[in-house]
Amino acid sequence: MSDRSVKHVVVAGGGTAGWVTATALVRHMGPLIDITLVESDEISTIGVGESTVPTFKTFHNLMGIKEDAFMSAAQATIKLGIEFRNWGRIGDRYIHPFGTIGRRWSWMADFHHFWLHARARGFGGELNEYCLEWAAGEANRMSAGPPIAPSHAYHIDAASYTRFLRGLAEPAGVKRVEGKIRHVALAPESGFIEVIELESGARIEADLFIDCTGFRSLLLGQALGVGFEDWGRWITTDRAVAVQSRSVHPPQPYTSAIAHEAGWRWRIPLQHREGNGFVFCSQSMSDDEAQARLMAEIDGEPVVDPWLVRFQTGMRVQSWSRNCVGLGLAGGFIEPLESTSIHLMMAAVTRLIEDFPFNGCTDALVNRFNEKSRQEYENIRDFIILHYHITERDDSDFWRHCRTMELPDSLKERLALWREDARAYQMPHELFRVDSWASVLLGQRARPHGYHHLARMMPEQQLRDELARMRAEIAELVEAMPSHPDFLRAYCPAEEPDFQRSRPAEIALSG
Ligand SMILES: Cc1cc2nc3c(=O)[nH]c(=O)nc-3n(C[C@H](O)[C@H](O)[C@H](O)COP(=O)(O)OP(=O)(O)OC[C@H]3O[C@@H](n4cnc5c(N)ncnc54)[C@H](O)[C@@H]3O)c2cc1C
Repeated sequence: MSDRSVKHVVVAGGGTAGWVTATALVRHMGPLIDITLVESDEISTIGVGESTVPTFKTFHNLMGIKEDAFMSAAQATIKLGIEFRNWGRIGDRYIHPFGTIGRRWSWMADFHHFWLHARARGFGGELNEYCLEWAAGEANRMSAGPPIAPSHAYHIDAASYTRFLRGLAEPAGVKRVEGKIRHVALAPESGFIEVIELESGARIEADLFIDCTGFRSLLLGQALGVGFEDWGRWITTDRAVAVQSRSVHPPQPYTSAIAHEAGWRWRIPLQHREGNGFVFCSQSMSDDEAQARLMAEIDGEPVVDPWLVRFQTGMRVQSWSRNCVGLGLAGGFIEPLESTSIHLMMAAVTRLIEDFPFNGCTDALVNRFNEKSRQEYENIRDFIILHYHITERDDSDFWRHCRTMELPDSLKERLALWREDARAYQMPHELFRVDSWASVLLGQRARPHGYHHLARMMPEQQLRDELARMRAEIAELVEAMPSHPDFLRAYCPAEEPDFQRSRPAEIALSG
């Protein structure tokens, strides 16, 4: 496509995606490239995106970020999983935990087959007793180990987090330019982006442009005309009302996702406040009703005005086109039920660094990047559709549609395998593990007809003993952990923020 070597990179946008990208580029390749980040003080960031997954920690480790310093700066709490309420049936509750459930014996079948076999024989207890993260979450405990180190992610304050990253990136060499982009100029022959022009008249040239302008997708979507693939036929939620409130409970180490008749509500506990949101399908509920419901259901006093966000689930047909890569919301969005957006941008930046186009944006590099992006997105899409589809709820048109909708073939195949004999798998480049699929399927009452016969290979008394020992070990470990609030106070206390800010009433954006 182009043999133009890449020396100067522009990151357009200074939300979470922009600063994550700029920080990662400068930390990994600072001396090799020049990085300029352009952001507009007039255009606010989306202001949500506060629940993460464990790859966030891995990404920070790669960047050499100290956990306690980051947690204090970002008001962070620990996340050991997600609590789902009212999903299978109204009144149901389960946790999708981040850790391993049970263990893998030398037989080539996953733990849940042995557990299903035990349950069929009348013993085996509950699945949550076999997972440290699940049990610690229920007990509101946490320890950063060793010897006890649960797999974890975080709840973060989005604005504090971007400030924290900016504090790392600018001293390391990222040049920040404040200004509103008014035009993106393309080279007449190649169609590559040559320069972005700001309202001030300033012109910024670069060899590679990273579009982090949010749902507007100014560069990839608008200037290069890369289309948006809409997945709204499967994931019909398309709006959210968000509000922040003072904490009135000790922070729990998990996100709550509480289903309602037209979507679900989130609760994200930080050290001094909670993030709350009401995700809904605009065909099934009005904006006013969603806002009224959210405000009635939050526990603490609101510290900002509620704001409305419109969104579409889907992705850009190409994540990388010519000399432009779209990251964060500019590249795509899957509704936030499993908190996967920040993961997707971090995974993409990591791949971009691994395959950095020092010698130009060649077809081979671009195709490889786009193929992997699509796999990552589609696997997550299927996992989210699963939550909506596997339900016995019949109390609204919304849930009746979810239960009966036509599924993508990829998910149909997975479900057929599960229903037959509880087979679950993790694809290459897939975020969610077998344990994730199993915990959601079992948590939402998708009982398989059978299970792997290898589970019958273990003598019954041995299985009883092994399971009992595992449950006891986990209970003992959890008992030895400090409470999550005590852990936060000792490890990463955050100052109480100034709650005097407010937000515009609506951020009307879409893909
Ligand atoms: C309802 C909802 C809930 C979510 N919850 C989660 C979650 O729990 N976990 C998770 O991982 N993700 C979540 N997300 C996604 C998450 O919010 C985003 O991935 C994350 O905030 C990154 O956003 P961004 O940086 O791509 O875009 P934005 O935050 O929108 O930032 C865009 C940037 O571009 C700049 N910009 C735009 N236009 C111009 C212009 N013309 N000139 C100059 N600059 C410009 C803006 O100033 C801003 O700095 C959620 C999203 C939604 C909609």
